Amino acid sequence: MTLTDPSFDLHCHVDLYPNPTALVRECDTERIRTLAVTTTPKAWLGNCRLVEHSSHVRPALGLHPQLVAERAHELALFEQHISGARFVGEVGLDGGPRHYRSLQQQEKVFARILCLCAEQGRKVLTVHSTRAVRRVLELIELHVRPGQARVVLHWFTGTLADAKRASDLGCFFSVNQAMVDNPRARALVAGIPLDRLLTETDGPFVQHGDRPARPTDIPGIVAGLAEVRGVAPADMRRVVTANLRVLMSSWD
Ligand code: MN
Repeated sequence: MTLTDPSFDLHCHVDLYPNPTALVRECDTERIRTLAVTTTPKAWLGNCRLVEHSSHVRPALGLHPQLVAERAHELALFEQHISGARFVGEVGLDGGPRHYRSLQQQEKVFARILCLCAEQGRKVLTVHSTRAVRRVLELIELHVRPGQARVVLHWFTGTLADAKRASDLGCFFSVNQAMVDNPRARALVAGIPLDRLLTETDGPFVQHGDRPARPTDIPGIVAGLAEVRGVAPADMRRVVTANLRVLMSSWD
């Protein structure tokens, strides 16, 4: 990813769109730097092939917490591929009603992933924390020392106090359209430190109007963020671009 282009999507399930190749081409043409997350380690090599000639899309190695109940055995594959992955995601915990039964297993998997990332260094993680924010932060605190990895909390839904604790731990927050549209989430976004804000679509899971979000929607999300924070869109774009530079710095 170069830092001269203004828009970036730090969490997009590129491989889950009907035509991933066309989406990659769109990111390149429209110059939207995009992190293509994976939900299972099995999808990693396919994702690498999908983006290997892309100027703007990079792959991330993931094991989604909602899939841990059926896919925990793929942790071995994750361990195999981790040294070749600079970006890690989607990983984390989900304590929602459909997934809390696997929470203990999720914690084991996430703790192992954090340890691997800390050991190897230079990783950037995009982390899911639905209904499990405090446990996610505890595990990060326990397994990752400052500077060993950089963590971006994606679609963060904790409280302002949780956000404060996360930023004290060095975490960033990637904000999507659903967050700038929702009144409760807007109040949270208004309280996140300005120097930790980043952008994502979480497409195709987040809707943009009546269609799945695409990385080209990022300028609109920056405008939404600007409105929430009461600054001009161009200023917000400068802020998030500077934050991305910090996220990526020291190991480029
Ligand atoms: Mn996601």
